[in-house]
Amino acid sequence: MSDHLSHQALAAFFCERREQITSEWLERVREERSIPASNSLPREELMDHLPNLFDHLTDQLRAGSPTIQQRAAARDAQAHGEHRWQQNYRLDELLREVAVLRRVFMRHLVTFQCAHPEFVGETEWSANRIVHGFFDGLLIDSTTEFVARQKQELFDANASLEAANTQIRQFNERLIEVDERRLHMLRTISHEVRNHLNAITFVVQVLASEANPSTAHEYYEMLSRNLVEISALMNQLLDFATLLSGGERVEWERCNPSHLYNELALALPEMARNKGLAFGGTNDPTIGEIFTDRNKLRRIVMNLAMNAIKYTRDGEVRLNFLPGVDGCWVLEVTDTGPGIPQEERQNIFEEFHRVAATTGGQPGVGLGLAITKQLIELLRGRIEVHAPEGGGTVFRVLLPRDSPEPRERAAVLGTPGD
Ligand code: ADP
Repeated sequence: MSDHLSHQALAAFFCERREQITSEWLERVREERSIPASNSLPREELMDHLPNLFDHLTDQLRAGSPTIQQRAAARDAQAHGEHRWQQNYRLDELLREVAVLRRVFMRHLVTFQCAHPEFVGETEWSANRIVHGFFDGLLIDSTTEFVARQKQELFDANASLEAANTQIRQFNERLIEVDERRLHMLRTISHEVRNHLNAITFVVQVLASEANPSTAHEYYEMLSRNLVEISALMNQLLDFATLLSGGERVEWERCNPSHLYNELALALPEMARNKGLAFGGTNDPTIGEIFTDRNKLRRIVMNLAMNAIKYTRDGEVRLNFLPGVDGCWVLEVTDTGPGIPQEERQNIFEEFHRVAATTGGQPGVGLGLAITKQLIELLRGRIEVHAPEGGGTVFRVLLPRDSPEPRERAAVLGTPGD
């Protein structure tokens, strides 16, 4: 018999015994203690690509060459490696399993040889070359894929570990920052309270022995100023704590901004006049009715206007209520004060941040604008700072005319506007 005919006969022999070879392999793999992963797999899963691989081997024998069909065999071997990785095999288990398959085939090859005495020498050698070549390829391709999957998983795990590390690092940096802020806050508040208490203690001591009524009056005024400032500071701290804890609720209501403007236009010019400043502004009635939280809106205007009066030495402070675009209206506070340097215009909204160059010895701890910004955000608006030509500062607040939720609007419909 020629080599070719012998290989064909061997392929036919393997095909006849397909069931037997498969069962033998399954049985041995299950018995093998060193392949525990196989025990948890149902038969179908354990068989995996075996039927295809079986076909590839017999095809290669029929063709008489290991190179023909090799690509398809390699693809199935790779798929087998990948599958075993997904089935949680260890690499040694994969290797042992293929070794068991090779042994089962070799045993049947010997049986074939016993039945065909002419299957010796060159014929036997070339058949062996095909069979072993097939198994070597199966081992290389399946383990290469298996290791590639393992590597990819390690790579992915490494990448997630690095991402987690970066997050932890950023979190730590934030914690350090929070710690520093807390320290800064404690220092600022203690410093401010101590200054007022020192002034109060001093006044109380000298007042006891002050006989001149006009000097005594000045001391009383100083005492009153310090008490007002310390109480304003406490109020700001309480406001800020409420905002931080998320305890500030928005009470949406219908409101005519003109009424608020007129109300503020009584108090603010008086405060400006006391400092020798002019006070003016515009109240554009075309803004119409708005939905807002009146109390919060008043606090926003007061904070901005009082800052403008506080930091302006001479000139004018203006309060403008103007129509806006895209469903917004605009409230503007302008002054002719020292202005805010470009590089500080975002920082001023951070709590306890003061601009040393512009505060000019004015009282404060740097909480007003942080509170103002949060109140504006609660009303779904935003604040901008501009530097007008000729100096000074413009704070522009853009606020929605409607409440964001139709439900909230509906809830107050019927409430008479003020
Ligand atoms: P405070 O007035 O208590 O310092 P704020 O948070 O209200 O705190 O303001 C932060 C800082 O922004 C102020 O210390 C001041 O330096 C600057 N600032 C605020 N408003 C004005 C203004 N109208 N003109 C100039 N600087 C201002």
